[in-house]
Parts: sequence; C-alpha cells; structure tokens
Amino acid sequence: MPGEPAVSVGAMESEVAPWAVGMTCPGCGGSAVRTVPDTCADQESVRSRLSDRLAKQPGVTSRFDTFAHTVEGLLLTAVGGALAHEGITNDKQLYTIGGSVLAALMFVVTVCAVVGEIRERRVEATGGPRADALWRSAAYCSGCASVFFPGGVPWRRPVTPEQFQKYVWTEAGFGKQLAQRVKDVALPPVDPARPGGVSDHA
Ligand SMILES: [Zn+2]
Repeated sequence: MPGEPAVSVGAMESEVAPWAVGMTCPGCGGSAVRTVPDTCADQESVRSRLSDRLAKQPGVTSRFDTFAHTVEGLLLTAVGGALAHEGITNDKQLYTIGGSVLAALMFVVTVCAVVGEIRERRVEATGGPRADALWRSAAYCSGCASVFFPGGVPWRRPVTPEQFQKYVWTEAGFGKQLAQRVKDVALPPVDPARPGGVSDHA
C-alpha cells in the first residue's frame, strides 16, 4: 500500500532486534547476548552444532526432494515391471517373480515415503509461523550457554537450549519430531505474566 512503510519481516537474518542492544542476561548478568536468529546464523554456532540445538523447527524434505524420490521410486518400479515382463515373455520364472516383487515393493515404499513427506510439510506449514515468532523473541547468552525470553514470557529465568527447543517445537506442533533426549527434558513452570511484560535491565 502506498504511504505505508515497508516491513521486512524475517528478510534479513542478521537484523538486530532493538532489545538486543545493551541487553544483559537474567541468569549470569553478562552482556554476551544475541538474538537466537543471530546466534544460529553464526558460522561458529553451525560448527559447534549450537544452531541445531536451537533449531526453530525440524528439517523438512523439500518439494524438489519429494519429486526426486517419486521419480526414483517410479523408475525402480518400472525396472521391476520390465523384468517381470521379460520373464513372462521369455518364460523365465525367476525374472517374473523377482521383477513383480521389486515393482510392488518399490511402489509401496515410494507411496509411503511421499505421503509422509507431504504430511510433514503440512505440519510445518501450520506450525511454522508460531515457531518463528517464539524463536525470534528469544535471546542466547554465550556467557552461561542459556536461552531467555527478554519479554519474560513464558519464563523470566534462562533455560537450556534443549528446554527452549522443546518449548518452541511443542507450541508449534512439532513435539513428536523432537529427538528423544530433548523430549525427556522437563520444562520449568511458566512464570505469571507481569504488567507490561517488559524485562528490567539489571
Ligand atoms: Zn548468561
């Protein structure tokens, strides 16, 4: 719309949220604090796998990969079919049986894989915005290796990256896809919201 300032939500990973400037960690009081998106974008975090521990959502197979899997599966199904045809035409029972089994197996495997990938993408599309909002509202303190929500919601105290991930993924509907060690982590009780919902700069 004309006259309205352009809002680039999530356009740049490295965009610094206003609250991240001069922020101190409510856990250790340190100021080595960055937004979670900034932390994840850092090459060092990628190397140390911190980015994975703070990942906003499970990895989802791309449309292209699903297409590639479909083509591969159908090609193998066709190979099986051709073998079976060869067996029937030349009266070679081994080819007939082997080819038929291969074709049937590959067809079933392909259908299951593709249906699973499509379902995964649907879950991701539904929960994605919620996960994104929560993920962006958090900060990571490298001083005490913990995550906190500057707004104090749902917790005023920092939590571990695992607790953070469990919270974000569960809220967004990805809970089932959490790694077992993250699923097993207990979340602290939610703090009551305080008026204003803004953290005080200690
Ligand atoms: Zn800290």
